[in-house]
Amino acid sequence: MAKCSICGRPAIYVSRASGLAFCEKHFLEYFSRKVRRTMRKYRMFGPREHIVVAVSGGKDSMSLLHFLHNLSKRVPGWRVTALLIDEGIKGYREYTIKRFFRFVEENNIDYKIVGFREEIGYTLDEIVKMGRERGLPYLPCTYCGVFRRYLLNKAAREMGGTVVATGHNLDDIVQTYLMNIIGNDWAKIVRLGPVSGPSHHPKFVRKVKPFYEVLEKETTIYAIIHGLYDGFEECPYAPLSIRWNIRKMINQLEERSPGAKYSLLRSLETAIDILRKHGIGEEEQLYTCAICGEPSAHPICRACQLKLELGILRLSEERIRSLPEKARRMVEAAIRRGEKR
Ligand code: SF4
Ligand code: ZN
Repeated sequence: MAKCSICGRPAIYVSRASGLAFCEKHFLEYFSRKVRRTMRKYRMFGPREHIVVAVSGGKDSMSLLHFLHNLSKRVPGWRVTALLIDEGIKGYREYTIKRFFRFVEENNIDYKIVGFREEIGYTLDEIVKMGRERGLPYLPCTYCGVFRRYLLNKAAREMGGTVVATGHNLDDIVQTYLMNIIGNDWAKIVRLGPVSGPSHHPKFVRKVKPFYEVLEKETTIYAIIHGLYDGFEECPYAPLSIRWNIRKMINQLEERSPGAKYSLLRSLETAIDILRKHGIGEEEQLYTCAICGEPSAHPICRACQLKLELGILRLSEERIRSLPEKARRMVEAAIRRGEKR
């Protein structure tokens, strides 16, 4: 059995990339040092913040809530609250929500729950069904991601949050990096950094990823140590996503060549630097959606576009005519895409 590289006690974790092994106590120290270093390096938080932790009830976001909640006890200017978006995924989300409730109530953490059904009008399960009936080409994760990001920003702002912290770990980030390389979407790659989003739109809340340099394996161990994870985790839609295959591929790569995930992260950072030097991504203007008024990368936000395609949102001829030209064209195109094939 491996021994802790620091104290010689039995190790619970061996980092194959560095060769270091840690017992439980020294793993927690290593984990905390690593996350705090990332937070400092990328200047994620100031001395006075209302940090809204975006929580799904899964191991990464629960670990992040646990970590920041504990850290905030030592930072007088911080307030940490939790925001859970309930997409409405039967047989999955009910379970992780129970875990979330247990934790916030035991720790006296203020929270808000926002549901797809209440805000969008339908659960994700219903939306996926509607999309299929209309012959739309999107995977469930597309609807889920677009509506979740939309609600996250809106609800965090309404809660008075100054910054939103998400539980994305290193594995998530390098998976998204490869997905965007395959999609040849370099503007999205520029936005994959640990602190995202232009801050000049008054309705936009800054997003940070404190686990940016932490492996999924490490957040899992942190969650297990603190009783935040019991093995049940998989969303039923996950195997349908491209991410699912990419994740498998990167894990195999890491198995054969330890440290590959860190190399991919460094590659992403180099790519972001080069892209910025060439002005890629910077030309992207932040609009205010002409329908809902939320910040958006386009004259009509992706959430409103999807609602139009799904037939959830209907606009009168008069309203469409009154929109600025670019926005009107986008609305008309979305309606056409949504017309039953
Ligand atoms: Fe949403 Fe896809 Fe994640 Fe499931 S796997 S919670 S559908 S993004
Ligand atoms: Zn909109």
